Amino acid sequence: MLRDTTRRLLSSSHLINDSRVTRSMNPSECACACGATNFETAGGPLFRIICHCTICQRFNDAPYADILVYPAKEVTLPPDEAVDFDTYRPPPNVQRGKCASCGQPAVEVFAAPLMPKLVMVPRSMFSSDQKVPQPAAHIFYDKRVSDADDEYPKHEGYIRSQLAFMKYLLVANRR
Ligand SMILES: [Zn+2]
Ligand SMILES: [Zn+2]
Repeated sequence: MLRDTTRRLLSSSHLINDSRVTRSMNPSECACACGATNFETAGGPLFRIICHCTICQRFNDAPYADILVYPAKEVTLPPDEAVDFDTYRPPPNVQRGKCASCGQPAVEVFAAPLMPKLVMVPRSMFSSDQKVPQPAAHIFYDKRVSDADDEYPKHEGYIRSQLAFMKYLLVANRR
């Protein structure tokens, strides 16, 4: 029951078939600094979020991750040899990949039971003049390296951050 409901709410086909959905971005090209890792998104992201968790800090070698979240079906992933994937923490729900040539964080693939498969693309993979949505929120804000001087909601703690992520996913899929 839950599985069916989740699938109905979150599946990409539901999204694509829903004429009310308006996406804020057109198909976009993503590329790392060296250009060896490049791929395309078919439409705009579901939402953008800033994650301060320690895994994101380590993966990005930065104070936080600034990511755009897509339904997996709408991203053409780069070829396997272009990206080095790693699981930073069990269970392996998220595979995080860096460009095999320049090491830039390039793409993250999220796959977990009962959840839609998602692909997350760092903001830095889009050119700086590419229009992207404003961030929906900060999550894992309790792990922040420094305070964020903005008006976006700030969610702290593991459970609340996970729930916030789910909420933005549901809202985006209902748009
Ligand atoms: Zn994170
Ligand atoms: Zn590269």
